[in-house]
Amino acid sequence: MAKPSIGVYGLTGCAGCQLNIINCEDELLDIAAAVDIKSFIMAQTGNVECEIDIAFVEGAVSNEKQKKQLLDIRERAGLLVAIGTCASWGGVEAMINDVPREVAKKDVYGDTMKDNPFYDCFNPMPLKDVVKVDFQIVGCPIERPQFIQAVASLLNGNLPLLPTYALCTECKFKENECLLIEQDKFCLGPVTKAGCGARCPSNNIPCEGCRGPVFEANYASEVEIMLEKGYTKEYIAQQMSTFAGTISAEDLGARKLVKTDIP
Ligand code: SF4
Ligand code: SF4
Repeated sequence: MAKPSIGVYGLTGCAGCQLNIINCEDELLDIAAAVDIKSFIMAQTGNVECEIDIAFVEGAVSNEKQKKQLLDIRERAGLLVAIGTCASWGGVEAMINDVPREVAKKDVYGDTMKDNPFYDCFNPMPLKDVVKVDFQIVGCPIERPQFIQAVASLLNGNLPLLPTYALCTECKFKENECLLIEQDKFCLGPVTKAGCGARCPSNNIPCEGCRGPVFEANYASEVEIMLEKGYTKEYIAQQMSTFAGTISAEDLGARKLVKTDIP
Protein backbone atom coordinates (compact mmCIF):
# COMPACT_ATOMS: atom_id res chain seq x y z
CA MET A 1 0.00 0.00 0.00
CA ALA A 2 1.30 3.46 -0.88
CA LYS A 3 2.41 5.56 2.04
CA PRO A 4 0.47 8.77 2.76
CA SER A 5 2.14 11.68 1.02
CA ILE A 6 2.89 14.95 2.78
CA GLY A 7 4.33 18.36 2.02
CA VAL A 8 5.79 20.94 4.41
CA TYR A 9 5.68 24.54 3.23
CA GLY A 10 6.75 27.93 4.61
CA LEU A 11 5.21 31.34 3.92
CA THR A 12 6.06 34.47 5.99
CA GLY A 13 7.58 33.47 9.31
CA CYS A 14 10.89 32.75 10.92
CA ALA A 15 10.96 29.09 9.77
CA GLY A 16 11.17 28.05 13.43
CA CYS A 17 8.22 25.64 13.13
CA GLN A 18 9.80 23.86 10.16
CA LEU A 19 13.06 23.76 12.10
CA ASN A 20 11.27 22.17 15.04
CA ILE A 21 10.03 19.42 12.73
CA ILE A 22 13.60 18.77 11.63
CA ASN A 23 14.59 18.85 15.29
CA CYS A 24 12.36 15.84 16.05
CA GLU A 25 15.60 13.89 15.82
CA ASP A 26 14.58 10.76 17.73
CA GLU A 27 11.36 10.36 15.76
CA LEU A 28 12.35 11.83 12.39
CA LEU A 29 13.43 8.54 10.83
CA ASP A 30 10.17 6.88 11.90
CA ILE A 31 8.16 9.76 10.45
CA ALA A 32 10.17 9.63 7.21
CA ALA A 33 9.56 5.87 7.01
CA ALA A 34 5.82 6.23 7.58
CA VAL A 35 5.16 8.92 4.97
CA ASP A 36 6.26 9.90 1.51
CA ILE A 37 7.64 13.42 1.83
CA LYS A 38 6.96 14.98 -1.55
CA SER A 39 8.03 18.50 -0.69
CA PHE A 40 9.97 20.00 2.23
CA ILE A 41 12.32 22.60 0.77
CA MET A 42 14.03 23.29 4.09
CA ALA A 43 14.93 19.63 4.60
CA GLN A 44 15.47 17.94 1.25
CA THR A 45 16.18 18.34 -2.47
CA GLY A 46 14.24 16.80 -5.36
CA ASN A 47 10.88 18.18 -4.23
CA VAL A 48 7.80 17.48 -6.32
CA GLU A 49 4.68 19.63 -6.26
CA CYS A 50 1.87 17.15 -6.85
CA GLU A 51 -1.29 15.93 -5.14
CA ILE A 52 -0.60 15.14 -1.48
CA ASP A 53 -2.59 13.72 1.41
CA ILE A 54 -1.53 16.27 4.04
CA ALA A 55 0.03 19.72 3.69
CA PHE A 56 1.63 21.34 6.73
CA VAL A 57 1.91 25.08 6.15
CA GLU A 58 3.91 27.48 8.30
CA GLY A 59 3.76 31.29 8.24
CA ALA A 60 1.28 34.03 7.46
CA VAL A 61 0.17 35.06 3.97
CA SER A 62 1.67 38.45 3.24
CA ASN A 63 1.92 38.90 -0.52
CA GLU A 64 0.18 37.91 -3.75
CA LYS A 65 2.75 35.25 -4.62
CA GLN A 66 2.15 33.49 -1.30
CA LYS A 67 -1.61 33.76 -1.72
CA LYS A 68 -1.34 31.97 -5.07
CA GLN A 69 1.01 29.37 -3.59
CA LEU A 70 -1.41 28.68 -0.73
CA LEU A 71 -4.39 28.34 -3.07
CA ASP A 72 -2.35 25.89 -5.13
CA ILE A 73 -1.37 23.85 -2.03
CA ARG A 74 -5.02 23.78 -0.92
CA GLU A 75 -6.07 22.52 -4.34
CA ARG A 76 -3.55 19.67 -4.19
CA ALA A 77 -3.88 18.65 -0.54
CA GLY A 78 -6.43 16.32 1.05
CA LEU A 79 -5.91 17.96 4.45
CA LEU A 80 -4.31 21.30 5.17
CA VAL A 81 -2.79 21.84 8.61
CA ALA A 82 -1.66 25.29 9.79
CA ILE A 83 1.53 24.92 11.82
CA GLY A 84 2.46 27.66 14.25
CA THR A 85 0.89 30.85 15.50
CA CYS A 86 1.73 32.82 12.31
CA ALA A 87 -0.19 30.37 10.12
CA SER A 88 -3.00 30.09 12.67
CA TRP A 89 -3.44 33.71 13.81
CA GLY A 90 -1.05 35.92 11.84
CA GLY A 91 1.68 35.87 14.49
CA VAL A 92 4.04 38.72 15.26
CA GLU A 93 4.00 39.96 11.67
CA ALA A 94 0.27 40.72 12.02
CA MET A 95 0.53 42.59 15.32
CA ILE A 96 -1.31 45.90 15.41
CA ASN A 97 1.02 48.49 13.96
CA ASP A 98 0.15 52.17 13.77
CA VAL A 99 2.43 52.78 10.80
CA PRO A 100 0.36 52.65 7.56
CA ARG A 101 1.48 49.85 5.23
CA GLU A 102 2.37 52.23 2.37
CA VAL A 103 4.60 54.30 4.68
CA ALA A 104 6.30 51.14 6.02
CA LYS A 105 6.88 49.83 2.48
CA LYS A 106 8.43 53.13 1.47
CA ASP A 107 10.67 53.09 4.56
CA VAL A 108 11.84 49.53 3.86
CA TYR A 109 12.11 49.50 0.08
CA GLY A 110 12.42 53.19 -0.81
CA ASP A 111 11.23 54.49 -4.18
CA THR A 112 13.62 52.47 -6.25
CA MET A 113 12.67 48.94 -5.29
CA LYS A 114 9.12 48.61 -6.60
CA ASP A 115 10.22 45.65 -8.71
CA ASN A 116 11.27 43.77 -5.59
CA PRO A 117 9.06 40.66 -5.38
CA PHE A 118 8.23 41.49 -1.76
CA TYR A 119 6.97 45.00 -2.59
CA ASP A 120 3.42 43.78 -3.24
CA CYS A 121 3.03 42.82 0.43
CA PHE A 122 -0.19 43.43 2.34
CA ASN A 123 -1.19 43.12 6.00
CA PRO A 124 -0.26 39.54 6.92
CA MET A 125 -3.19 37.14 7.23
CA PRO A 126 -3.59 33.74 8.83
CA LEU A 127 -4.14 30.87 6.37
CA LYS A 128 -7.81 30.56 7.33
CA ASP A 129 -8.48 34.01 5.81
CA VAL A 130 -7.51 32.63 2.39
CA VAL A 131 -8.31 28.91 2.35
CA LYS A 132 -10.09 26.26 4.39
CA VAL A 133 -7.81 25.04 7.19
CA ASP A 134 -8.56 21.57 8.56
CA PHE A 135 -6.49 21.75 11.72
CA GLN A 136 -4.16 24.07 13.62
CA ILE A 137 -1.06 23.14 15.58
CA VAL A 138 -0.31 26.41 17.37
CA GLY A 139 2.85 27.62 19.06
CA CYS A 140 5.73 29.98 18.39
CA PRO A 141 7.26 27.66 17.49
CA ILE A 142 5.14 24.48 17.58
CA GLU A 143 5.88 21.95 20.30
CA ARG A 144 7.62 18.89 18.86
CA PRO A 145 5.55 16.30 20.80
CA GLN A 146 2.37 17.91 19.50
CA PHE A 147 3.58 17.71 15.92
CA ILE A 148 4.42 14.03 16.33
CA GLN A 149 1.07 13.37 18.02
CA ALA A 150 -0.70 15.21 15.21
CA VAL A 151 1.10 13.25 12.49
CA ALA A 152 0.31 9.95 14.25
CA SER A 153 -3.39 10.85 14.61
CA LEU A 154 -3.72 12.11 11.05
CA LEU A 155 -2.05 8.99 9.64
CA ASN A 156 -4.63 6.94 11.55
CA GLY A 157 -7.46 8.98 10.09
CA ASN A 158 -8.22 10.98 13.25
CA LEU A 159 -7.98 14.66 14.01
CA PRO A 160 -5.41 15.20 16.81
CA LEU A 161 -6.59 15.89 20.35
CA LEU A 162 -4.48 18.84 21.48
CA PRO A 163 -5.21 21.08 24.50
CA THR A 164 -8.20 23.36 24.04
CA TYR A 165 -8.13 24.96 27.49
CA ALA A 166 -6.35 28.07 28.80
CA LEU A 167 -2.71 28.14 29.85
CA CYS A 168 -3.65 28.92 33.48
CA THR A 169 -4.85 25.32 33.76
CA GLU A 170 -1.34 24.01 33.10
CA CYS A 171 0.06 26.62 35.46
CA LYS A 172 -2.26 25.38 38.20
CA PHE A 173 -1.27 21.75 37.52
CA LYS A 174 2.28 22.85 38.32
CA GLU A 175 1.16 24.67 41.47
CA ASN A 176 2.86 27.88 40.35
CA GLU A 177 2.19 31.08 42.23
CA CYS A 178 0.03 33.25 39.95
CA LEU A 179 2.14 36.05 38.49
CA LEU A 180 -0.97 38.04 37.57
CA ILE A 181 -2.93 37.86 40.80
CA GLU A 182 -0.11 37.52 43.34
CA GLN A 183 2.61 39.59 41.67
CA ASP A 184 0.61 42.03 39.49
CA LYS A 185 2.60 41.01 36.40
CA PHE A 186 1.10 41.28 32.91
CA CYS A 187 0.39 37.61 32.23
CA LEU A 188 -1.76 36.51 29.28
CA GLY A 189 -2.24 32.96 30.57
CA PRO A 190 -6.01 33.31 31.05
CA VAL A 191 -6.61 34.06 27.34
CA THR A 192 -3.87 31.87 25.80
CA LYS A 193 -4.21 28.30 24.55
CA ALA A 194 -2.39 25.75 26.70
CA GLY A 195 0.12 23.21 25.39
CA CYS A 196 3.55 24.52 26.33
CA GLY A 197 3.32 23.29 29.92
CA ALA A 198 3.14 26.92 31.16
CA ARG A 199 6.81 27.23 30.25
CA CYS A 200 7.24 30.93 31.01
CA PRO A 201 5.25 31.32 34.26
CA SER A 202 7.01 28.19 35.54
CA ASN A 203 10.22 30.21 35.22
CA ASN A 204 8.70 33.31 36.82
CA ILE A 205 8.21 34.99 33.42
CA PRO A 206 4.70 36.18 32.48
CA CYS A 207 3.08 34.52 29.45
CA GLU A 208 3.14 36.74 26.36
CA GLY A 209 0.51 34.67 24.56
CA CYS A 210 2.74 33.11 21.91
CA ARG A 211 0.37 30.16 21.39
CA GLY A 212 -2.46 32.48 20.41
CA PRO A 213 -5.91 32.80 21.93
CA VAL A 214 -7.86 30.01 23.54
CA PHE A 215 -11.38 29.58 22.16
CA GLU A 216 -13.86 31.73 24.08
CA ALA A 217 -11.00 33.66 25.66
CA ASN A 218 -12.55 36.04 28.17
CA TYR A 219 -10.73 39.19 27.11
CA ALA A 220 -13.20 41.42 28.95
CA SER A 221 -12.30 39.89 32.29
CA GLU A 222 -8.55 39.96 31.54
CA VAL A 223 -8.77 43.63 30.55
CA GLU A 224 -10.70 44.46 33.73
CA ILE A 225 -8.04 42.81 35.90
CA MET A 226 -5.20 44.54 34.00
CA LEU A 227 -6.87 47.94 34.36
CA GLU A 228 -7.30 47.32 38.10
CA LYS A 229 -3.59 46.48 38.27
CA GLY A 230 -2.80 49.88 36.74
CA TYR A 231 -1.87 48.95 33.17
CA THR A 232 -2.96 51.47 30.53
CA LYS A 233 -5.48 50.62 27.81
CA GLU A 234 -2.84 51.30 25.15
CA TYR A 235 -0.38 48.90 26.77
CA ILE A 236 -3.05 46.21 27.18
CA ALA A 237 -4.15 46.51 23.54
CA GLN A 238 -0.56 46.40 22.30
CA GLN A 239 0.40 43.37 24.39
CA MET A 240 -2.73 41.45 23.46
CA SER A 241 -2.09 41.96 19.77
CA THR A 242 1.53 40.77 19.81
CA PHE A 243 0.91 37.21 18.64
CA ALA A 244 -2.67 37.36 17.46
CA GLY A 245 -3.32 40.72 15.84
CA THR A 246 -5.93 39.27 13.51
CA ILE A 247 -8.33 37.64 15.96
CA SER A 248 -11.96 38.58 15.63
CA ALA A 249 -15.00 38.18 17.85
CA GLU A 250 -16.01 35.27 15.59
CA ASP A 251 -12.68 33.53 16.21
CA LEU A 252 -13.30 33.81 19.91
CA GLY A 253 -16.73 32.27 19.74
CA ALA A 254 -18.36 35.70 19.15
CA ARG A 255 -18.01 36.42 22.84
CA LYS A 256 -17.15 39.59 24.75
CA LEU A 257 -14.77 42.12 23.31
CA VAL A 258 -11.48 41.74 21.46
CA LYS A 259 -8.46 43.87 22.14
CA THR A 260 -9.13 46.28 19.30
CA ASP A 261 -12.42 47.17 21.02
CA ILE A 262 -10.67 48.49 24.12
CA PRO A 263 -11.74 52.16 24.13
S1 SF4 B 1 0.83 33.01 36.25
FE1 SF4 B 1 -0.23 33.47 34.35
S2 SF4 B 1 -0.63 31.47 33.41
FE2 SF4 B 1 -0.14 31.11 35.56
S3 SF4 B 1 -2.15 31.11 36.61
FE3 SF4 B 1 -1.36 33.18 36.73
S4 SF4 B 1 -2.26 34.25 34.98
FE4 SF4 B 1 -2.44 32.04 34.61
S1 SF4 C 1 3.98 30.50 28.58
FE1 SF4 C 1 2.98 31.77 27.03
S2 SF4 C 1 4.64 32.92 26.01
FE2 SF4 C 1 5.57 31.19 27.19
S3 SF4 C 1 5.75 29.53 25.68
FE3 SF4 C 1 3.79 29.25 26.73
S4 SF4 C 1 2.25 30.34 25.47
FE4 SF4 C 1 4.29 31.03 24.84
